[in-house]
Amino acid sequence: MSRLPVLSEVPPAPAVGPLPFAAALSPKRLYVDTFGCQMNEHDSQRMIGLMASEGYVPTDSPEDADLIILNSCSVREKAEQKLRSRAGEMRQIKRQRPGVILALGGCVAQQEGDALLMRIEHADLVFGPDHLARLPELIQKVKTDRKRLKETTFLDRQDYQFPALTPEAPLEVSAFVSVMKGCDKFCTFCIVPFTRGREISRSAVEILAEVRALAERGTKEVVLLGQTVNSYGRKKQDGQIPFHELLAQVAEIPGLERIRFTSPHPSDFSDEQILAFRDNPKLCPHMHLPVQSGSDRVLEAMRRGYTRAEYLAIVRRLREVAPQVAMTTDLITGFPGETEEDFHETLSLLEEVRFQGAFAFAYSERVGTRALKIDPAVPEEERFRRLRQLLELQDRITKECLTEMVGQRYSVLVEGPSKTDPSRSSGRTGQNRPIHLDRLFAPGTLVEAEVVEAYKHSLSARAV
Ligand code: SF4
Repeated sequence: MSRLPVLSEVPPAPAVGPLPFAAALSPKRLYVDTFGCQMNEHDSQRMIGLMASEGYVPTDSPEDADLIILNSCSVREKAEQKLRSRAGEMRQIKRQRPGVILALGGCVAQQEGDALLMRIEHADLVFGPDHLARLPELIQKVKTDRKRLKETTFLDRQDYQFPALTPEAPLEVSAFVSVMKGCDKFCTFCIVPFTRGREISRSAVEILAEVRALAERGTKEVVLLGQTVNSYGRKKQDGQIPFHELLAQVAEIPGLERIRFTSPHPSDFSDEQILAFRDNPKLCPHMHLPVQSGSDRVLEAMRRGYTRAEYLAIVRRLREVAPQVAMTTDLITGFPGETEEDFHETLSLLEEVRFQGAFAFAYSERVGTRALKIDPAVPEEERFRRLRQLLELQDRITKECLTEMVGQRYSVLVEGPSKTDPSRSSGRTGQNRPIHLDRLFAPGTLVEAEVVEAYKHSLSARAV
C-alpha cells in the first residue's frame, strides 16, 4: 500500500516573521544556489519554474530575495560543510529581514533531515529531492503555519511526481528532461540510492509531452536525464517503452534539433541503444559513459557490474557503427584497496579509449556507503597524487583530440554571446565541446563552422 506523504513539523519553531509590506506590492524574488551535479542543476531550474508560477522572479542576489533556496549535492566531498557555510552567510539577511524564507533542498537535506534543521536554526524548510514538485505547497505551509518544516520521506511510485515544466519557466536553448529518478545499482562508493531513493521511470507520454512543450517554446536541444538513464523502461512499468524507442519518438518532435542523454550505465547498454547513434539523426555524436576504473579488481569492489573487457566491447561496437561519436567518462582515483598496478590499468584504459574528456575525482568517504568497510584505505595524499597523474594524461589526450578537430567542420548550436568577448557567440558541437564562433548569432541558431584553433578544453571556429 502506498502512503501519502505527511509533513513533519519540527520544534522548536522560531517564527517566520511577517512578510514585509513592500513584498506584497513588488514581485517576490527568488534566489537559488546550486552546488553539485547535473541532476541538481535541473532540479534548480524546475524550482525556478515552479516558483515563477507563484509570482517569484529569479534574482542573482540573496540580499534582494524573499525566498532563498540552497540546493545541495552530496555526491562529492564536503557538501554538508559547504551547505552550512552558505547557510551561515544567509543568517545576516534573515536577521535584517525576518520575512525571508530559507529553504534547504537536495541530497544533503535528504540525508541530514532533522539534524540539519537543528544545526541551522535560521532555516525554515528542509526538503528532499522527492518533494520538489510540492515546493510551492511547502513554502505556503511555512508561511501560513509559521512553523519550520522538514519533508524527507521517500515517495513510492504511486505518489512520486516528476516536477512539471511550468509555462513561466525560463526558456532554454538546451533543456534537461528527467526520464527517471533514483538508482537501483548501489555502487559501494555512492550515496545516491540513499538520498534519491530507488529507480522510478516516468511514462513515455509524459516525457514526450514535456519535450513537445519545450520545442514549441523554442528549445532546440533536450538532454534526457537519469542517474542510469539507459535503464529507462527496463522494469516495463506502465507507460514506459524501451529507451531506444523513446529516443526515436523524441526525434519525431518538430522543432527539436538535438537529443542527448546522461548518464548511461555500461551494464544497461543494449545493441539497439548503440545503433541509435547511427540511425537516429537527432542523437548527438557524444556519449558520456562513466567507467570509474580500468581495473577489474577495483570495478568488482565498487560493485559496478561490468568488467574492463565488457566496457571496451561497448566502446568497440560504438566506434564500429558510429565512429564520429566522442566519448567522455567519470573516474575515481584511490578507491579503497586500489594498488599502483590497478591505477596503471586505469591509465592504460585512458590511452586505449582516448576519451575526449573526463571528470576525475580522488575517492572521498561517504557515510553510510559500503566502501567505508573496504581495506586498506589509500592515504589521501596518494589519492590526490594519482588524480594529478591521471589528469595530466587526460589533458594531453584531450588536447590531441581537439587538435585533430582543427580544419574540420562541425554543426554548432549557439547558446549565447561569449562570456569573454560579447562580439562572438559561444555554443557546443554535437560532440558537446564548447566552441567560440567568430561572430554573433541568435541563441538557438545552428551554425556550420570550421575549427581554426584548439585550446585546452574548447575550440575557436569560423562560421562558414
Ligand atoms: S549507478 Fe552507481 S554511481 Fe551511478 S548513481 Fe547509481 S549507485 Fe551511484
